[in-house]
Amino acid sequence: ARQFTRPLNDLANQFNTLLSAIAGAERVFDVLDEKEEVTDEKEAVEIDSVKGEVVFSHVSFSYDDDEATIRDVSFRASTGQTVALVGPTGAGKTTIINLLSRFYDPSDGEIQIDGYETKSVKRSSLRRHMGFVLQEPFLFQGTIRENIRYGRLDATDEEVETAARMANAHSFITKLPKGYDMVLKQDGSGISQGQKQLLSIARAILADPSILILDEATSSIDTVTEVHIQEALQRLMNGRTSFVIAHRLNTVQQADQIVVLVDGEVNEKGSHDELLKKNGFYAELYHSQLTG
Ligand code: ADP
Repeated sequence: ARQFTRPLNDLANQFNTLLSAIAGAERVFDVLDEKEEVTDEKEAVEIDSVKGEVVFSHVSFSYDDDEATIRDVSFRASTGQTVALVGPTGAGKTTIINLLSRFYDPSDGEIQIDGYETKSVKRSSLRRHMGFVLQEPFLFQGTIRENIRYGRLDATDEEVETAARMANAHSFITKLPKGYDMVLKQDGSGISQGQKQLLSIARAILADPSILILDEATSSIDTVTEVHIQEALQRLMNGRTSFVIAHRLNTVQQADQIVVLVDGEVNEKGSHDELLKKNGFYAELYHSQLTG
């Protein structure tokens, strides 16, 4: 998870600088796009609407042309399904997410979204259909309202508030000294880790993506906030194709599909019950509480 948040944190830092200098987030994306490793093909297409079927076929990738980081990874997520990526640290879970969101492209094999090979789709168009809820949510210096609205810049105050309610964030926000107008510092100090998560869920609800990427928090969050987060996540995930780098047993058990990665390869895949019956790596992980 550390590696995944790295590119995104870079983005977050650049956003802070750029947001104050440039009006209009599309410009910001354009500027950032130029700095990324992956460039769009000339004929890259825009996709307007996405249902969220995701297929990895025989995907291999290496960060440095050396040994492959992931090898021959195949799985399919139907629209609306939840896929839990599990496996020990360094197994390649984050790399799969990096490829799906096109921070990198596969060296072999292909990834398709609704039948489009991701390589042939404009990155900006792809990411417009993706929502991220990360361990370290990215917040910028600005009001709580602006931070939520970042999910969809033309959202009205009312829509921002509706999203906040669905995310179980409204009640803590209204208890803050200035409520939605409270200015957050860039590091989000002044609100708790769990509250940052709720804001990032509200933002994702507002953005209404077809594909969700969730990196479950490993740090301890107080029990009450944790219940709020789980409930908000259920609402957010409902009807969307979700990929979860899962650390909680509960999340994994409820997933439609579990992809178990070991050393960059799919060791096994299936539902919780199917994998327990196989009595393989997952069963072992399960019995050791998935602490990896
Ligand atoms: P996981 O998310 O399952 O912990 P990762 O996908 O982060 O695994 O990492 C898989 C392997 O790729 C690890 O050996 C890791 O050190 C390496 N790796 C991850 N990110 C990078 C990167 N940006 N550059 C080079 N190697 C990386």
